[in-house]
Amino acid sequence: MNCLASDAETLGCLAPNPKLLKQLMRQPLGSTPLRIRSGGTSSRCASDGCWTLDLRKHREIHYQEHSQNIEIGTGLTMAELLQALRPHGRSVPIGLSGLTGSGFILTGGMGPLSRSQGLAVDSIQAMEGIWGTGEPFSLSTDQSAENSRQWRALMGAAPFLAVVTRLRLRTQPLQPLRLRRGLIHPSLLPELLQMAEQWPETCSLQWSWGERLEIYAVDSSDDQTTPGPLAALAPILGTDHQAAVQHCTSQLEQPRFGSLASENASFQPVHNEVTGRLGPALGRKASPLIERLSARIQQRPHDECRISAQQLGGATTRVNRESTSFIHRDSMWKPWITAAWNPGDLAGRERSLQWMDQVSDDLRQACPGLHLAQLHDHLPGHQRELVDAFGEWLPELRQLKSELDPEGRLPPL
Ligand SMILES: Cc1cc2nc3c(=O)[nH]c(=O)nc-3n(C[C@H](O)[C@H](O)[C@H](O)COP(=O)(O)OP(=O)(O)OC[C@H]3O[C@@H](n4cnc5c(N)ncnc54)[C@H](O)[C@@H]3O)c2cc1C
Repeated sequence: MNCLASDAETLGCLAPNPKLLKQLMRQPLGSTPLRIRSGGTSSRCASDGCWTLDLRKHREIHYQEHSQNIEIGTGLTMAELLQALRPHGRSVPIGLSGLTGSGFILTGGMGPLSRSQGLAVDSIQAMEGIWGTGEPFSLSTDQSAENSRQWRALMGAAPFLAVVTRLRLRTQPLQPLRLRRGLIHPSLLPELLQMAEQWPETCSLQWSWGERLEIYAVDSSDDQTTPGPLAALAPILGTDHQAAVQHCTSQLEQPRFGSLASENASFQPVHNEVTGRLGPALGRKASPLIERLSARIQQRPHDECRISAQQLGGATTRVNRESTSFIHRDSMWKPWITAAWNPGDLAGRERSLQWMDQVSDDLRQACPGLHLAQLHDHLPGHQRELVDAFGEWLPELRQLKSELDPEGRLPPL
């Protein structure tokens, strides 16, 4: 569980089964908002003075051979989902870790396969759950026009409106991956970003910058014979064994992202907050931006503070801006900032959060959008983040919030 969330002084944790959840959602809570825990990887799945609703009893899973869709309870992790799909030779695009839960899917999570297979939210075919009012719902891609606002709202902004209990997901053929990672000098990053912007959709670049700068390139193309983008990385990464191309039979075998960028050698627990921005291809803007970020990296207030990024484009751009709450469909990059501090170090927390805001400001011009995968309703920048995440769709979302969660039982919008 996220370390900050697990240290929170909550009112308690409730883990109702599907039947009891319906009753619970109609009870007065005494304290709002209710915090929802699925994978439990974000800092706000539990917080001081709030009840936590744990979805661990929502773990059913059913693969439909005829449609190649999978129906899941939302208490499962992405690793459990992929393990259940493996015998059928199928998978869904997950992120850089199998630890995340349905929050990853519902907030528009992305990963190394997103450029060819879309965002996780784009796989959703149907959803069931309970609105903040306590009313149950069941919606699918072929819902009536009357429900289309609600469907759009759930596709990327569900945490503000409902507890989603079941998902039906479209699956993809299980895909082996080739991967190449290593450490580079930061001066090489702008050129590398511009190279990656020309890569085919089957390839993606991820990087993580802390004490060192790690790059992590993934190729999912079937063509293993012609030298592709991974081979072109040889002059940058060198020839030592760590930089060799690795073969993974599925996303679950991916090596741990970011492990080369810094060593938390003592494995001390660290508190952190994360914010992710979204922006289009950088082209020549890459150079001045990376120079600016390099200066910020030198000023990191804690060893575990980092700037990282993952690449979008291709399939993620082919979905209409108006059809989901993930509106930044022109994005090529999601840089994210990790602000870290030692538990209990309040001054360190302030310094790291201030650093996160400064880096976010540096990125804002090139990356005006925001990926709201981590809720920050306890931080001063929350309102600004909502505007950057949902743009012109925010007023309509707020209207829906007033209809579907009028008492604010779920996080504020
Ligand atoms: C190790 C690690 C790797 C990651 N890699 C990636 C990545 O590659 N790509 C990427 O995009 N993101 C990535 N993330 C970010 C992560 O996907 C988001 O923080 C996501 O929101 C986590 O969801 P969760 O269910 O694991 O966490 P939780 O903390 O359990 O959930 C996060 C929030 O989502 C909401 N929520 C969760 N489930 C439901 C539900 N069923 N109904 C309503 N609301 C719900 C709640 O508000 C909850 O507080 C990563 C995070 C970690 C820790």
